[in-house]
Amino acid sequence: MIETLEQAEHQKYGCKFSPHKYVKGKCVARIWETISKEHYQCSRNNGYGPEELYCKQHSPLETADIKIGYRVNNIGKPYEITEIEYIRFTEKSVFLAESGEERRNALRDNYHRYFKTREEANNYLKTRASNKIRRAHEEIDEAEQFIKKLNNEALDNNVSIVHSMTATPLVGILV
Ligand SMILES: [Zn+2]
Repeated sequence: MIETLEQAEHQKYGCKFSPHKYVKGKCVARIWETISKEHYQCSRNNGYGPEELYCKQHSPLETADIKIGYRVNNIGKPYEITEIEYIRFTEKSVFLAESGEERRNALRDNYHRYFKTREEANNYLKTRASNKIRRAHEEIDEAEQFIKKLNNEALDNNVSIVHSMTATPLVGILV
């Protein structure tokens, strides 16, 4: 954790090939951005925490107030709920607390969904499960109808084969 202005001035943001320098007056927190895969400096004004280097949300007192949220997977184990530690939720993002750093994630992406309460996560999984059951029933119906159709066709063919077999000898006899 950064606790002095001197440490702050040595802090680097961005990727290691084109790092950005600490901007004085802004919060010193490094935020991990999952889309660009880079750390950036928090854009809020400082004024809290050690030497007032942090914004209100990132001051160590505030980040100590880490809450438990819930994550479900879109791939892999579709009914598993994992506990996560978060700092806050916004409309589209969750700010996760991971080893002392804040990590911003979309509330929903290809891999995960995040929820504030277990009840929300449970409800989401319930809907997911009933949708799966409905789709499975539709697939079974479709497969059964296909088998029925094939059986009916086979039956029709047998009937016409029987017809042609009974017809031919009759012709033969008549000749
Ligand atoms: Zn901040």
